[in-house]
Amino acid sequence: MGFHYNIWNVVKKGVYLKCINCGKEFEPQPYLFKCPKCSSLLEVIVPEPHLDWEKLSGRKPGVWKYRELLPIREDIEPVSLGEGGTPLVPLKRVVLRDTGRDYRIYAKFEGANPTGSFKDRGMTVGITLAKYLGFKGVIVASTGNTSASAAAYAARAGLECLVVLPRGKVARGKLSQAILHGARIVEVEGSFDNALEYVMEKIFGSSEHSYYPLNSLNPWRLEGQKTIAYEIVDELGRVPDYVVVPVGNAGNISAIWKGFKELYMFGYIDKLPRMIGVQAEGASPLANMWENKGKKPLFVDKPETIATAIRIGKPINWMKAVRAVIESNGMFLKVSDEEIIEALRKIARYEGIGVEPASATAYAGFLKLVEKETISIDEIGVLVLTGHALKDPDTINSL
Ligand SMILES: *Cc1c(COP(=O)(O)O)cnc(C)c1O
Ligand SMILES: [Zn+2]
Repeated sequence: MGFHYNIWNVVKKGVYLKCINCGKEFEPQPYLFKCPKCSSLLEVIVPEPHLDWEKLSGRKPGVWKYRELLPIREDIEPVSLGEGGTPLVPLKRVVLRDTGRDYRIYAKFEGANPTGSFKDRGMTVGITLAKYLGFKGVIVASTGNTSASAAAYAARAGLECLVVLPRGKVARGKLSQAILHGARIVEVEGSFDNALEYVMEKIFGSSEHSYYPLNSLNPWRLEGQKTIAYEIVDELGRVPDYVVVPVGNAGNISAIWKGFKELYMFGYIDKLPRMIGVQAEGASPLANMWENKGKKPLFVDKPETIATAIRIGKPINWMKAVRAVIESNGMFLKVSDEEIIEALRKIARYEGIGVEPASATAYAGFLKLVEKETISIDEIGVLVLTGHALKDPDTINSL
């Protein structure tokens, strides 16, 4: 045993975990990732803050601008690299060119985060938790960006970082970052989907609790990612009509929806956007479910797509994402690798925005919405462009 922590040294008073299925509530524990009653997903519930939204305007942009809405105690100095506060840029030329019309559409360029993806927003919260609880290091399984981010934030915190990657399937930029920041890398054969459990058992044994797992089941990471919603509202000065998000393990779309809902519940906004989740055709368990009007994802055993960041066959957070899409009156859709490549090229060529393939699904998805006539010309939309072009130079050079 030997390892002791007091969660209340790090987590705010009044914060608790809640099962999204049976509704049971639990005191926060770093290792509680699934409901002990029904095995469903947990979410972090933060008490209503005493906060005047207008008062935020004088603060520096970024994740910690919203710390009253985050679960970390306010006397804790976060492990931060200045994540968040990413550009929200209107797309004009490319949209006019592709649709012939002036859709009011913005790109939230998450590639501008310190390690080049939105994962930094979650990692600043996750690593802060791990550091102040006294863990020796962190462990993540990843398609790449989570490991790049975990490696950098662990380095900043003085923690060890162990990353588990599917052999030969990680984009070069991401692997380079993990190496650069000194992470220990374990490569496993096959897909990402079971990598973390495998390594937790094989290397550490189930009783070893000195490495904190910051995988996609971790609900604390999503708390940082929800700030994407806050920033969109902050910068637009209003709530968009729809938000388009690339979906892999489905944490980000769930986090962004949670962010909007909190603003609504706390009375800062008076409407909510539709959430549109976009998957790649070869890895589209949720989009297929949606098309078939099913209730459960049609899991994919061997996901395949050029968009490696969303090459996920069994999205861990599917239940949260389905709830987000249904509650928001949104939808899931899928786009082909050809459409992804076209979208990536066009936003690079006509807007000057360089993204990795997974992110380009948001623009490809927007074109699908136009085609299906599910959005109207006077609606405001935001595309979440999740990661930077330099993450995946090999794919881009081979286009
Ligand atoms: C992680 C990631 C995604 C997918 O996000 P999920 O939360 O797993 O759905 C999409 N794009 C990029 C660039 C990513 O790194
Ligand atoms: Zn439950």
